[in-house]
Amino acid sequence: MPEASTVPSTPPPPASAATGGAPAKSAPQKAMEKLGLARDIDLALHLPLRYEDETTLTPLDRSRDGDTLQCEGEVIESRIEVRGRRQLLVKLRDDDGAQVLLRFLHFYPTHQKTLAVGARVRARGEIRVGFFGREMVHPSFRKVDEQTPLATSLTPVYPTSAQLPQAYLRKAVASALRRAPLDEVLPQAMIPRGLPPLRDALNFLHHPPPSAGLSTLEDHTHPAWQRLKFEELLAQQLSQQRAQRERAHLRAPALRGSPGGLHERLLAALPFALTGAQRRVAEEIAADLARPQPMHRLLQGDVGSGKTVVAALAAAVAMDAGWQCALMAPTEILAEQHFRKLIGWLEPLGVRVAWITGSIKGKARQKMLDAAASGEATLIVGTHAVIEDKVRFHRLGLAIIDEQHRFGVAQRLALRKKLADEAAGAADSGAPGAGPLEPHLLMMSATPIPRTLAMTYFADLDVSTIDELPPGRSPIVTRVFADGRRDDVVEKIAAAVEDGRQVYWVCPLIEESEALDLKNATETHAELGEALPGRKVGLLHGRMPAAEKAATMAQFSSGELDVLVATTVIEVGVDVPNASVMVIEHAERFGLSQLHQLRGRVGRGSVASVCVLIYTGPLSDTGKARLRAMAETTDGFEIARRDLDIRGPGEFMGARQSGAQLLRFADLQEDAPLLSAARALAPRLLDEHPRAAQLQVERWLGHKTEYLKA
Ligand code: ADP
Ligand code: MG
Repeated sequence: MPEASTVPSTPPPPASAATGGAPAKSAPQKAMEKLGLARDIDLALHLPLRYEDETTLTPLDRSRDGDTLQCEGEVIESRIEVRGRRQLLVKLRDDDGAQVLLRFLHFYPTHQKTLAVGARVRARGEIRVGFFGREMVHPSFRKVDEQTPLATSLTPVYPTSAQLPQAYLRKAVASALRRAPLDEVLPQAMIPRGLPPLRDALNFLHHPPPSAGLSTLEDHTHPAWQRLKFEELLAQQLSQQRAQRERAHLRAPALRGSPGGLHERLLAALPFALTGAQRRVAEEIAADLARPQPMHRLLQGDVGSGKTVVAALAAAVAMDAGWQCALMAPTEILAEQHFRKLIGWLEPLGVRVAWITGSIKGKARQKMLDAAASGEATLIVGTHAVIEDKVRFHRLGLAIIDEQHRFGVAQRLALRKKLADEAAGAADSGAPGAGPLEPHLLMMSATPIPRTLAMTYFADLDVSTIDELPPGRSPIVTRVFADGRRDDVVEKIAAAVEDGRQVYWVCPLIEESEALDLKNATETHAELGEALPGRKVGLLHGRMPAAEKAATMAQFSSGELDVLVATTVIEVGVDVPNASVMVIEHAERFGLSQLHQLRGRVGRGSVASVCVLIYTGPLSDTGKARLRAMAETTDGFEIARRDLDIRGPGEFMGARQSGAQLLRFADLQEDAPLLSAARALAPRLLDEHPRAAQLQVERWLGHKTEYLKA
């Protein structure tokens, strides 16, 4: 969050602002809500980014160039000057007669009023000493008189937004801090030794005395910070472990394959043997399915490691046991590809597959809905349309989500709700057994979560990992080119196509403009068409109707097209084993895991594959680190580890959780000792002091608890 300018001339909030009660909300109040600062406790836990020292005044004649200081004096001149742009220039003279010029490039009439000639003003900012004397650009300032006391503690600077002035937020936090219920909820014996009481820690962090060591405050090693981080980690561990316990009380159908059943027949019919890793994870999943508690498992495996067939085997177990299975993918292309693959495998074995996406409408849709509701279709494949209200299942036993991190938090919550509804519905219809049976849930992801993160963020998630690629894959060689050498790349592509290879060409991602995205892809399409006379170059982009996309994809799959120019719609999961060259333009605009996903589209057959990354400089340090990582390794776990290093866990998880950032203060790596203390304490607290556990979670997570389950 950016920090807003600190101009205290904004009208201060009424003292009771934080509790609300007034019918119309002011802009700052709305901004506070947007930041999740609804309750007193939320404000009390909104901690400063840094501090400003307003406890002393520095005589101007003792200041040096570059000092940040606070001074006080009388305004002796105030004028607006137009030099290129309008500026407000204010001359201040302190009690020793030394002067400073305050320069404002942005200002409002209120600035001028406060800074009128004769006013006594306290200003804080950085001193610059130039040819015309001392100057401060955009100092913070306020009107005072001789009696106005100096601050007795350091002034907090909070994370905020443009609509929420620091001064307003400071007052709101200070008064919320007085009201917030901050009594200890933890039994004294359970608080790690050396950490101060919560109330003391918060008072200290919001208003530290001038003597407080700024360095331990700013690097968060101060005991008061440690206490806060411990609290946060504990709340998070509690909520995770509690979710895990709740799940243990839920009931699910125990699903077992029958001898000679679908599961065995599918295994026998596959054109390949499973890898050891596939066999292992398939067994882990089968063991979960056989239990009468809902499975909640993440299957992670690098791109191309063969997760789809593992999903199909799980589905076969469910169908064998007489239940339905739903398989969801984040995009229509991917859903369609699953659909074809699963039909290819399962229809010969007598399985009816229904297909539900947003673009299937009218009668065709009704037919699919009927097949799902009657139980005639036992496997239902599609996009998130599958979890829409209108879709009813006969007996849903297993839900599988592919590329689960691509689904938004809201969609994941909708899915959980759907599964619970299905459970209730099944109970109504008199399904065998007492009480509702919740379907099992299997999530799949090609972006592995490093183990420590998986354990902390997903305590309520079992993880299976495919750590082996199917045999016969040849390694992908990755080359990095500056865009000045684009012509060389085009030449190489022409040669590869001569050799009978198929090429993906991914066009730059331009986030702000889909139209530009398209223009780029269209131009590249034309350019490659010219460079490759007699060859077929296809184009795939996000604006094409689904049917057209599918047709183009099918042409590429069948080898009819030599080159496929695409925007990132091909990113996830597309499987064309004959494609062996991948070009990614403006590679510096992609995240590391995204590049890895894209690169995973090649290297699926037995021909040696190449990935060409074209970048446009100058590169930032992280940009360089990313491209280097791509060139140095093709191991998805190593890439995830480096991604974590480059971005830090907060952002890593932030992106993954679609913005729901879960830890604000603690750092899983730096604060590992606090984390293990919290992890060990959580089960004891849940067992021995359930009320305290509940309060702790509410205090920290409030409305966010739902998201933690998603
Ligand atoms: P991902 O894990 O990225 O979803 P897929 O399930 O799409 O990977 O599998 C990639 C390719 O590997 C597919 O063409 C699939 O049929 C093939 N495949 C999967 N398992 C094996 C195996 N054990 N032996 C050979 N090929 C396999
Ligand atoms: Mg896949």
